Amino acid sequence: MSYSVRGEEPVVIEALKMRALPEGSYDKLLEFLKLYRNAVQMVVDRIWSINGRLSKKRLHRLFYNNLVSMGFRAHHAKEIYIYAESLVDSARSNGGRKPILRKLSARIDRYDYKLDLDSMTLTLKLHSGYEAKLKLVTSSERVGKFRGWGNYEVVVKCDGSGFWVSIYFKRVAKAVKPRTVMSIDLNFDNITLTVLTPDGRLVKLKRFRTPLRKVLTHRIWVERIQRRYPRSWKFIKGVRKAIDRHGERIRNISWGYAHKVGDLVAELASKHSSIIVLEDLDKLRENNKRGREFNKRLGLWFYRRLQFCVEYEARERGIEVVKINPRGTSSKCPRCGKKLFEDGHRMLRCMKCGFVGDRDVIATINLYKKYVSKYSRCGVSGVAPNAPKPDENTSGMQGNRDDAMKTSSYMNLYES
Ligand SMILES: [Zn+2]
Repeated sequence: MSYSVRGEEPVVIEALKMRALPEGSYDKLLEFLKLYRNAVQMVVDRIWSINGRLSKKRLHRLFYNNLVSMGFRAHHAKEIYIYAESLVDSARSNGGRKPILRKLSARIDRYDYKLDLDSMTLTLKLHSGYEAKLKLVTSSERVGKFRGWGNYEVVVKCDGSGFWVSIYFKRVAKAVKPRTVMSIDLNFDNITLTVLTPDGRLVKLKRFRTPLRKVLTHRIWVERIQRRYPRSWKFIKGVRKAIDRHGERIRNISWGYAHKVGDLVAELASKHSSIIVLEDLDKLRENNKRGREFNKRLGLWFYRRLQFCVEYEARERGIEVVKINPRGTSSKCPRCGKKLFEDGHRMLRCMKCGFVGDRDVIATINLYKKYVSKYSRCGVSGVAPNAPKPDENTSGMQGNRDDAMKTSSYMNLYES
């Protein structure tokens, strides 16, 4: 999966791999795959002795006629020299040796195959005018998702277990025009998100518990075992296995959670036509914010994973995601900008204007304000903001945390 650069419409690319059964004899298909491999190798051998990257034009001049005379079609030839060039390129940049191809694998361009998702068949145009028809073996649910997508390339492979096909699907996600801002605060115990309108009205407030406490207990087990066998744990099979088991649990819990929450968040953003504002985790470290909590490496690694899933799910729905430096977002008063002080469990109070609120919610509101002021100043597209006046009189944030989480008390935060 991958996306285009920011600013363009987001393009979603996904590959679907499945087993394929040739209809009738597969002699010609096998012949094609061998010929293809040899042709790629031939091109690799030739360009390995030439220094520097070759342009497509040069590649074409050097190899096109030769490949066509071997029986390849025009787009076969193009795929072959471009693939060979990319192999050489990555071998060189890794400081490796000349690539030697052993596996039977061919990349085939849109013009040289016909895919029919209804009958689940793939017809390939081979060398010298031959064709091969393959029956694709997979469930209709897996394929169903890709109806309405375009496809632009297939990769056909043959190994000891038979033939495999990967189909590359592509779709332009229709960009959602943002009408609200969803800002998300991550910390060890909770994920807090708020959806606010450009004029500061609260639409939605939601909190998820993170599984980091659970993950931490597995982590502690691992460290306990490693401490007990400080020198030898890597070499004792049973001990290593126990550690692997905890590692596996940690991976399952965190990926499962990240996917689930990524999906939920993107659905909510979609429902409210939000632009999503996340904390820029790279800036987090240099700010040295929230010292102890964020110094737990565990946290940072988990937040990255979570942000990855949120971004992925959001882009799939055409929702824009921006990252904002979180400096000061959990320590400044969202109303007057002065430093906040702790006031009971997870509550913060401003000594200057008397503002009181839940620290996580305050962080999301400050993120929102940072986003709004940053993007209104430089006139980048997004929601049109009405920045709140600094001394608006709002008593909305008072009350205990549970009251605060019942949302209505936030509603008037920016209303005049
Ligand atoms: Zn204040």
